[in-house]
Amino acid sequence: MGKRVKVDLPVEEMPKNWYNVLADLPFELDPPLDPATREPVKPEALLAIFPESLVEQEVTKERHIPIPEEVLKEYAVFRPTPLIRAVYMEEYLETPARIYYKYEGVSPTGSHKTNTALAQAYYNAREGVEELVTETGAGQWGSALSYSCAKFGLRSRVFMVRISYKQKPMRKQLMNLFGGVVEPSPSNKTNVGKDFLASNPEHPGSLGIAISEAIEYVVSSNKVKYSLGSVLNHVLLHQTIIGLEIEKQLEILGEKPTIIVGCHGGGSNFGGTVLPFVPRKLAGENIRFIAAEPEACPSLTKGEYRYDYGDTAGMTPLLKMYTLGKDFVPPPIHAGGLRYHGSAPIIARLVHEGIIEAQSFPQEETFEAAKLFARLEGIVPAPEASHAVAAVIREAEKAKEERREEVIVFNLSGHGLFDLSAYT
Ligand SMILES: *Cc1c(COP(=O)(O)O)cnc(C)c1O
Repeated sequence: MGKRVKVDLPVEEMPKNWYNVLADLPFELDPPLDPATREPVKPEALLAIFPESLVEQEVTKERHIPIPEEVLKEYAVFRPTPLIRAVYMEEYLETPARIYYKYEGVSPTGSHKTNTALAQAYYNAREGVEELVTETGAGQWGSALSYSCAKFGLRSRVFMVRISYKQKPMRKQLMNLFGGVVEPSPSNKTNVGKDFLASNPEHPGSLGIAISEAIEYVVSSNKVKYSLGSVLNHVLLHQTIIGLEIEKQLEILGEKPTIIVGCHGGGSNFGGTVLPFVPRKLAGENIRFIAAEPEACPSLTKGEYRYDYGDTAGMTPLLKMYTLGKDFVPPPIHAGGLRYHGSAPIIARLVHEGIIEAQSFPQEETFEAAKLFARLEGIVPAPEASHAVAAVIREAEKAKEERREEVIVFNLSGHGLFDLSAYT
């Protein structure tokens, strides 16, 4: 059995910059389009819902973006996060692969989402915003944002997909603990919500509807801005702290990754994990990136690559991405954070170019993978992260069959301690 290794970087070793992959891509991304004119959206148009510094980060080509001191200070509450060798799983699988996982579940709200929530709350507060509004599926994003708003003195309001609101009362309580106001979506606070409720008073809701509600609320209020927990370039940018730390940790171990895996909902934890390694692939290094998604919501593997709205009511700009269509309402699978119809434009393009692979997993297989991981490694994975675990198991088994050494690294994006009802 390999030696169990856990690499904890000292806080002084935390990266001081985020990494912007747009500086290194050999192609231009297709720009977001204004739905009315089909012309590229002017950055100024985004200022109605986002603060200037984040709009700037959305389009910049600077390679290294300094992380503000105030954000570094808050990251230090839980960062750097550990990189751990999964020796118990390696032994069980009898694989020649060495498997490492980056554990983001140590964050205050249990997932990687705090990495961008803190940054977004900071920039909004600095520009005089008083309240942030957002949507949440399973509740991880809503709780990360509520926590971060409390840290930077902002109010927070969260439109929570109604089915999760009912199934995950503890997530709502966590948001309330941090001062967040939680509205089950569809709600009667917006015209969009009222329309859906009129057609079905028990509507289960969807992320697309909740986004529409949040945006409608924001554009009709003052000193209130919108905050998105995935998909957009600046969100992936903030998440690159994950991959940048992994780079340092692997260097300490003298390891070179050959396969990097993450689960994919809107692309933020996956992007944050793999994007810092993309230049290696572009330079011809032997390295694979695998995005793991649910068979029940297979945007990257079954979606079309085209322009589509980010929300259901069609209020957002059109984004070029893999999409199942804005009206897609996924079945109520437990991995609430992976129920989004679209994908991050950066990830979509990299899949389209063959730089990133996508694979889909049935719910059964991911739960079996999660149970195995919990019993062997002692951490209950979030249902979303279980898709990454399932992908790693498939690759480790392939390595065994083909007698290949591999260095597999995956992001364990969060713990599942608020999701135990899904396991029973
Ligand atoms: C939200 C969430 C995801 C999915 O979102 P991405 O933007 O694709 O990362 C994955 N894992 C966890 C733990 C989450 O909370």
